[in-house]
Amino acid sequence: MIAGHGSRRNRAYPVDMNGPAAPDPLLALADVCVQCGLCLPVCPTYQVEAIEAESARGRIAMARALVLGTVAATEAGEDHLDHCLACRNCEEVCPSGVEYGALLVLARERQRARRQPGFTQRALEWLSARPRVLAAMLWCYRLAWPLLPRALRLLPRPPAARRGPALPRQGDVALFRGCVAGPYEAGLRDAVGRLCAAAGVVVAEPGGQGCCGALHAHAGDLAATAALGARNQRAFARAGTVLTLASGCHETLEASLRGVAATEDAQVFLAARVEALAFRPCRERVALHLPCTQRNGVHSVAATRALLARVPGLEVVSLDAGHGCCGAAGTQLATDPARAARFREPLLAQLHASGATRLLSANIGCRLHLANGTGMRVQHPLEFLAEQLS
Ligand code: SF4
Ligand code: SF4
Repeated sequence: MIAGHGSRRNRAYPVDMNGPAAPDPLLALADVCVQCGLCLPVCPTYQVEAIEAESARGRIAMARALVLGTVAATEAGEDHLDHCLACRNCEEVCPSGVEYGALLVLARERQRARRQPGFTQRALEWLSARPRVLAAMLWCYRLAWPLLPRALRLLPRPPAARRGPALPRQGDVALFRGCVAGPYEAGLRDAVGRLCAAAGVVVAEPGGQGCCGALHAHAGDLAATAALGARNQRAFARAGTVLTLASGCHETLEASLRGVAATEDAQVFLAARVEALAFRPCRERVALHLPCTQRNGVHSVAATRALLARVPGLEVVSLDAGHGCCGAAGTQLATDPARAARFREPLLAQLHASGATRLLSANIGCRLHLANGTGMRVQHPLEFLAEQLS
């Protein structure tokens, strides 16, 4: 199996640290920080704002002080916590091994007890937990899209409903569908079905599955994440292996399915079977965007590159401009579109100067956000690879 570039695997979610003598779990995580500041240069929000409170070190210090009661919560402090993109670039460089992802989830859980999230966030959480309502909303959005002013086009126009057969309900491995990805990614799921078939594997799409709950967890609603996880546990009880297509969903689903089924990035799964895949030559230059959840969470970058390297003649240009995050950041693309666009701008400038004819990215949130800022074709790497099958 091809692993990613990162050797450390920090937790995206906190483990149960309760017990008679257990310290406050948030405090235990925060106390690992030695305040060296090595995370500051890689923090996208610190790069933009250049103030301590917009860095990992600043947020950790604030969360710790709130637990100890040495400071009171303020509106400005809540904003700094809101602004964190959960990219976990800080974790990757931290010499002390601070588990910032787990710490952020706990900090946001306590923030949620102090202050209710905004209407857009709550609406997105409600919709993502109800796939049929969400699909109906996106169908209406597709119809209305040509009439909408630019400011209301928070997402690209959804594709027309799928024609032709869906994936079977049973197979050798199962595919995780997700929430917003459901209506947007029918073509991608078909593409994965073709790639797996070429590798001799039947991929199925079990019914009854739903949202992974990542956007609820990142907004501090761990109870909703657990309820959604329980639904997926039932849906995948007999799956064996579940393939994910969105790096932003992978870790949450993996945590939910622990002990029930193995969770694997579809790119890692296919990279391990790459010898069975044959691709046509392609004299094209494509741009590759590597989502922070893929780089810092799933660690499947090497698998993506290994698969793309099998296409004869293909030129891959890596997008590395900007601040290390495209700005989509879970729901930020909808809750604060102006801020999200600010992080996206340098990446789009590099994309348009690159001479690439399409953009590849392995996370649905990043793809929707990037596609909304460019007229260029934006695809998951596996959708592109399925087109090149010989
Ligand atoms: S790099 Fe780690 S230890 Fe250093 S300030 Fe950042 S979080 Fe704290
Ligand atoms: S997760 Fe990203 S935005 Fe948040 S503190 Fe760490 S590096 Fe900064």
